[in-house]
Amino acid sequence: GTIDFERLSEYRYRIPRQGKMRCDAVFYASERILEDLAAEDYASLRQLMGVATLPGVVEPALSMPDIHWGYGFPIGGVAAFDPEEGGVVSPGGVGFDINCGVRLLVSEITREELEERKARLADELFRSVPSGVGRGRKDFRIGRPDLERLLVEGPSWLVERGYGEPEDLEGIESRGRLAGADPDAVSERAYQRGRPQLGTLGSGNHFLEVQYVDEVYDEEAARAYGLHPGQVTVLIHSGSRGLGHQVCTDYVECFLQVAPKYGIELVDRQLAAAPVESPEGRDYLGAMSAAANFAFANRQLIAHFTREAFARAGFGGRPLRVLYDLAHNNAKLEEHGGREVLVHRKGATRAFGPGNPELPERYRRAGQPVLVPGDMGRYSFVLAGTEGSMRETFGSSAHGAGRKMSRRRAKKAARGRNLIREMERMGILVRAAGRATVDEEMSEAYKDAAEVVEVTDGAGIGKKVARLRPRIVVKG
Ligand code: 5GP
Ligand code: MN
Ligand code: MN
Repeated sequence: GTIDFERLSEYRYRIPRQGKMRCDAVFYASERILEDLAAEDYASLRQLMGVATLPGVVEPALSMPDIHWGYGFPIGGVAAFDPEEGGVVSPGGVGFDINCGVRLLVSEITREELEERKARLADELFRSVPSGVGRGRKDFRIGRPDLERLLVEGPSWLVERGYGEPEDLEGIESRGRLAGADPDAVSERAYQRGRPQLGTLGSGNHFLEVQYVDEVYDEEAARAYGLHPGQVTVLIHSGSRGLGHQVCTDYVECFLQVAPKYGIELVDRQLAAAPVESPEGRDYLGAMSAAANFAFANRQLIAHFTREAFARAGFGGRPLRVLYDLAHNNAKLEEHGGREVLVHRKGATRAFGPGNPELPERYRRAGQPVLVPGDMGRYSFVLAGTEGSMRETFGSSAHGAGRKMSRRRAKKAARGRNLIREMERMGILVRAAGRATVDEEMSEAYKDAAEVVEVTDGAGIGKKVARLRPRIVVKG
């Protein structure tokens, strides 16, 4: 089938309000991306239309150019809800991996210095940062009372105990501490699952990548971010592990039960939602914020062990500074258009423009750093938030290249090939929990991040700053 939409400008489209939609939807795409959307019979755009049916939605419901099918909300979805108009919160609008996100570390190590110690560093990183679905870590233990405190305080709890530097906190969205975290709203099962997993990557799509800056597009912003060609960077992608997953599971179940009581009609069960201003909605937001703080702490601890691995590989005394740490699965109360709204970003990042008081002083002129991972074989990008993103997308932008092939299809496409060897021939060392993950995560399984970034930049909802090339990939 087809759906009814109209082109607004080169990269911007509108789906006019229809059926049970309460507002228009807007999506960003190139011709190529549009073809991909058509090839999946517009399944992810239909999900976006479903989002626009939820109570209290603020026009428009949006999707970023990396849109693809997800649980309930599409990945790449951005939607704001007004609590005073019966606006809802939906766990499917945040995602199962609450505060999945990325942290970029920058060094003054050169690409040439890296090459000399690359294999050693790859091994050290693989040993220091556990990866794989259920993996925990044995050299870091946290008791239950301390974990409750960490859910409230986030990475500052770790920094106070020597896991990182106080300056690290300045480079984290919201300083890694979402207000309103409620440890009592987190289930026993969530605690059990998360406790041994702090400081671990998790499954296949998560990674730790050593890269170098190979191209700068915006000198001024790059200078503000401390980026220049040839310099080594580290991109860490992980989230809240089993803890966040369990929080999502718990509250989807709860919201399915209470939605009728609040008169919320669901066109899709996966859109389970409750009013922001309801006991259940508040509990979810408390648990979600706690899981988000856990995820910020998780990336903090991974960064700490990354620094140790660099030191052991011969880079002792060479700092790895936090450029930025950014969530791409969350919901936050923010002011947009003069009112406080709950912005869901599901596979979408915050992208605040220049001058925003939430940004550290040093980034205020350039705008917020936006981190866009691509894939393990090609490249990733750093962008900056713009006035356009503030005006059009509730201060949001794309979070990645987005999957193009299912895991199953990728595995099939990898048959008879040795991807680890192919990558090695390109100078990229891969260390992974298993070969199957590498197959599922092959470059070709993802859209071309350059395409997503062109649309983002072209539409003015993010500005291209720099490109990063992979050298070592530790895969979940
Ligand atoms: P997600 O959070 O949606 O699972 O992943 C975010 C993005 O990370 C994906 O859309 C994809 O573009 C990117 N990505 C996945 N694996 C890798 C990798 O190994 N290296 C890099 N640089 N990016 C990746
Ligand atoms: Mn992610
Ligand atoms: Mn994740």
